Amino acid sequence: MNVAVFSTKSFDRMFLQEHNSSYGHSLVFFEDRLTEHSVSLAAGFEAVCVFANDRLNRQILTTLSDNGTRLIALRCAGFNNVDLPAADELGLTVVRVPEYSPHAVAEHTVALIMALNRKVCRANSRVREGNFSLEGLLGFELCGRTVGIVGTGRIGKVVAKILKGFECALLASDPFPSPECESLGVSYVSFERLSAQSDIITLHCPLMPHTYHLINDEVISRMKAGVMLINTSRGALIDTKAVIEALKSGKIGYLGLDVYEEEADVFFEDLSDKIIHDDVLARLLTFPNVIVTGHQAFFTQTALENIAKTTLSNITDFEKSQPCPNQITLELIRG
Ligand code: NAD
Repeated sequence: MNVAVFSTKSFDRMFLQEHNSSYGHSLVFFEDRLTEHSVSLAAGFEAVCVFANDRLNRQILTTLSDNGTRLIALRCAGFNNVDLPAADELGLTVVRVPEYSPHAVAEHTVALIMALNRKVCRANSRVREGNFSLEGLLGFELCGRTVGIVGTGRIGKVVAKILKGFECALLASDPFPSPECESLGVSYVSFERLSAQSDIITLHCPLMPHTYHLINDEVISRMKAGVMLINTSRGALIDTKAVIEALKSGKIGYLGLDVYEEEADVFFEDLSDKIIHDDVLARLLTFPNVIVTGHQAFFTQTALENIAKTTLSNITDFEKSQPCPNQITLELIRG
């Protein structure tokens, strides 16, 4: 099938090309992110392959459909960037990679927790400057701390298993409790109780209309003073301005982000010789107790291999009019 691949980085090209020998699709790579400005590049391509920050709103989907596209193949699990009702009306099929390596994201989550707690980044910079002082590097032991996991799907479940090994007390909130987590000793409680009782809160639920700004002023007000907040899910789960106020007051003691609500224009690019125009992000980067990584939690060899294989297989299913287990239907967003 003719596929226009957007937001291509060298690693996407490498893994997709390597595995495409078994599928034989005609892949054309574009470095551009899919936006109103770049959508014309997809003209005549039956399939468009996109990533987490490509824009698939009604206007762009309409242009794609008018220009002959029939399949949108996401190279990611989250699909909050796609206007699914519009895709459905236009008769566009949307497929994704629901699971490529929950371990990749879960392990990065724990890396953020550990780096924040033991101040690994600060310590490393200090030692490189010849400063071996321990002032300001005091950490705490994870053993016995209460961690609240919001969403115990594929990724949240692995986070629970890892943190069980640290002997943490585990709370979780999820409309669909996992028997596997319950057997690990995870206690399911309301989100209100989880936010009030946890020393560390980590977000693993999808971004949906009902989870937009799940972490807001009101929720933060009931958290423990000095709480650690981790988000490796989707940026807009957090009201970033509310979190900045809480960092300034000390209510939030640590913040670890792999995603940011306005990341689309910034993440995945080398802007090291440019001015950052996003004042909210710039403010976040000034706090010593904040670590931001640029949406890299998924970024492991295993995950990239699985993304490439599943994406190519999804495209083949569509091409051969076979049922695709990874098709996104409107039922999925309606729950
Ligand atoms: P999943 O669908 O397996 O699990 C999500 C869980 O969240 C489900 O159990 C669901 O019932 C639960 N949930 C839904 N609404 C909730 C709410 N209001 N409160 C609590 N729980 C709720 O998804 P997953 O594979 O575990 O991925 C989780 C998220 O991680 C994805 O939505 C995606 O946005 C993000 N993600 C990020 C990266 C990265 O590189 N940073 C990579 C992959 C996925």
